[in-house]
Amino acid sequence: MVIISGPSGSGKGTVVKELDAAKGYSRSISVTTRTPRIGEAHGRDYFFTTPEIFTRMREENQLLEHALYVGNFYGTPRRYVEEQIQQGRIVVLEIEVQGALQVKEKFPEAVLVFLMPPTLGELSNRLNKRATEDAVTIDARLKRALEEVPLINAYDYLVINDKVEGAVAKIDAIVAAERLRPRRCTEELTHFTA
Ligand code: 5GP
Repeated sequence: MVIISGPSGSGKGTVVKELDAAKGYSRSISVTTRTPRIGEAHGRDYFFTTPEIFTRMREENQLLEHALYVGNFYGTPRRYVEEQIQQGRIVVLEIEVQGALQVKEKFPEAVLVFLMPPTLGELSNRLNKRATEDAVTIDARLKRALEEVPLINAYDYLVINDKVEGAVAKIDAIVAAERLRPRRCTEELTHFTA
C-alpha cells in the first residue's frame, strides 16, 4: 500500500491518477460527504455520500481509515484495498495526514510518501535568506509549511513534485526499492531454506 499526502497544490491528484494510468497501480477511490465540484464524477473522483451512510459505513467497519477534514468526512473503502492487495497489486491512496497515520499504525508495511510542491521547497530556501515577497503571502505559506514540517517526519519519503513524470518516476522507484526489502521477499527466500 502506498499512501500519498501533501498540501493542496502539490499535484497529488494528478500524480496518483498517473500512477494508476501509466504504472498500473490500483487507485483507491474514497468515500466523502463533501459535495462534488464541477467536473467531478461519482465513482471516478469519489463516492459521494451522505453523513448518515458514511456513519453507517464507519460503524460497520467498512472503512480502512477515515478523517474529518474541513467539515467533511473522508474515508477509504476497505474491501477494494484488501482485494487488490490479495491479488498482489500495489494500491495507492491519496489521503490527508490523520488518515495516513491511522493506516501506518494498522499496516506498518504501508509506504508513506509526502508530496511537496516545488514552491514550498523554494519557500524553505527563503526561510534561510531574507524574504522579499509580499509579506501576507509569505506568512500564510510559511504558517502552512511549518504546520506540516513535524508531520513530514512520520512519512517514509518526501518527493518534490516539480514535474509530474519526475514525481511518478520517483514514487515508482521507491516502490521498486521497497519491494526488495528482505522482509517483503519471503517467496524468493523460501527457495533458500534448508
Ligand atoms: P478534497 O476535498 O480537496 O478532494 O480533499 C481534501 C483532503 O482530503 C485532501 O488532502 C485529500 O487527500 C484528503 N482525502 C481524500 N480522500 C481521503 C480519504 O479517504 N481519507 C482521508 N483521510 N483523507 C482523504
